[in-house]
Amino acid sequence: MNDNHPILLGIDLGTTYSAMAYIDEYGDAKIISNSDNERITPSVVFFESPDNIIVGQNAKDETELTPEMVISFVKREMGKHKSQVRIEQLSDDLYSMPKPYTFFGKTYAPETISSIILKKLKNDAEKYFNGREINEAVITVPAYFNEAEKKATQDAGVQAGFKVLQVISEPTAAAISYGLETSRKNEKVFVFDLGGGTFDVTILDIIGHGDNKVMNIIDTDGDHHLGGKDWDDTIIQYACDLYAQKYSDAPRNDLEGFADLVIKAERMKKQLTEKEHARFNMNCNGNKLKVELTRAQFRDLAEDLMLNLENTCELVLDRNGIKWSDIDTILLVGGSTRMPMVREMLEHIAQREISDNLVQPDECVALGAAMRAMMLKLGNKADTSLYSKELLSKYHDGLTVNDILSKSIGIVAQRVDEGRKMAFIFNRQLHIPASKSQQFFTIVEGQTSVKLSVREGESKNPDNCRVLVEKDLVFNRPMPIQSPIEVTFSMDHSGLLNVKAIDLTDFREIEFEVERRDNMSKAEVQNATALVSLLNVE
Ligand code: ADP
Ligand code: MG
Repeated sequence: MNDNHPILLGIDLGTTYSAMAYIDEYGDAKIISNSDNERITPSVVFFESPDNIIVGQNAKDETELTPEMVISFVKREMGKHKSQVRIEQLSDDLYSMPKPYTFFGKTYAPETISSIILKKLKNDAEKYFNGREINEAVITVPAYFNEAEKKATQDAGVQAGFKVLQVISEPTAAAISYGLETSRKNEKVFVFDLGGGTFDVTILDIIGHGDNKVMNIIDTDGDHHLGGKDWDDTIIQYACDLYAQKYSDAPRNDLEGFADLVIKAERMKKQLTEKEHARFNMNCNGNKLKVELTRAQFRDLAEDLMLNLENTCELVLDRNGIKWSDIDTILLVGGSTRMPMVREMLEHIAQREISDNLVQPDECVALGAAMRAMMLKLGNKADTSLYSKELLSKYHDGLTVNDILSKSIGIVAQRVDEGRKMAFIFNRQLHIPASKSQQFFTIVEGQTSVKLSVREGESKNPDNCRVLVEKDLVFNRPMPIQSPIEVTFSMDHSGLLNVKAIDLTDFREIEFEVERRDNMSKAEVQNATALVSLLNVE
């Protein structure tokens, strides 16, 4: 490969599997295989010894043998403080241990665990390209990730040694991988993404083509805790019930036996994608049991989950006044959309046949992220003589990607008569990047400071909203009552928030970055919120 050709990674940092891709010299998006020669890498980390941390399939294999040293599903913990982490290495409802990520005396934050996964991908990619250093990446997140979760993802990338070009949403990346291949002018796309641990549906518009393509997310919704793993759990539950009937005992009493069941259940699920019937032998507490299922039985076991999927689809369409007949393309994303019952359900409710994607459902997000990375690179590049015609023709044109805000963000304000309430500056579904200001006023004569408490959520009650950052704005003199303060929120193209407050009486500007609030102890948070009552809504 030409040394001038930029290798930019598109990384799908998945809940259960991660994938990475790049754009070759001819402009084609390609998956980069990991050091095991696999196209996707389990997002699993195994702490073998204080200085040997293993990521990927070898770590996943350890789930069975040393569950207490293995971390899976770290993506669900992103944005949380390390003391609030809940280990979910096995089945969610059936078996989980609420405890922090502590190994060999060290407690890890979720973003640090994610950075270990990203670092493994980076190393593998560098190996793939014969030792070339690779530093730049676009990383994807679910569309409904909030600010704290996106920030944690960005931090993980930085900790792994990347310059994170952008954090983009997974459906956007999937649509990019698709959008560039279409010649249609305007298209309404329904992205249905069912992975290992997350589910989301997103409706987006792709308007125009060539130079002036715009991709607008219209709406998105989903569930952090719904994914292929829940289908595995239905099989696990089924096997446990059978076992309990026969042996009057719970398989969970045998940790290793149960871990083995978890692996066999996922395998059975995948087999039922290929054939009508599957079976395995369960070994627990020295007992054996044969477990068999047909595809139809499996669909019955998963009925509630299927209803859940269906309801989310209908809800998102309904609240936007969009009918299935308005949708031009349905895009299946995520490994779990391989299950025949998922496609059948969608074909039934959408009243049409759904064609196979051009790419694998668990690869398209990484491919789209790599494409986005190349667009960002070539879009800013004045010197285009370095790149091939093919590359330039595919990635030099502008594509505007408008993401939307998944949660409203505002500050805690106080009205003399009404008490504390949220004053939202950014409303949910706002197109980002965006910037907006609002004026507030002091409410006490001689006030010397205000506490800015920036929170996200949909409730008017600040106690129901998540704290993003809190900061004291200290005046250099006692202020008259009703002194104006302007608060400005700006959100960049990755969805990261910046907050600025200006004391309008002398135009003193105080700017600060949003830190994840979870870094503070509970006592600090309570103390801080008690001081809030100093701002007034206009
Ligand atoms: P994520 O992005 O959430 O990490 P993926 O999109 O890679 O996940 O999907 C992983 C999920 O897809 C897992 O639950 C896995 O069991 C499931 N999966 C992968 N292949 C198949 C298949 N052939 N049939 C059914 N489920 C599958
Ligand atoms: Mg995914």
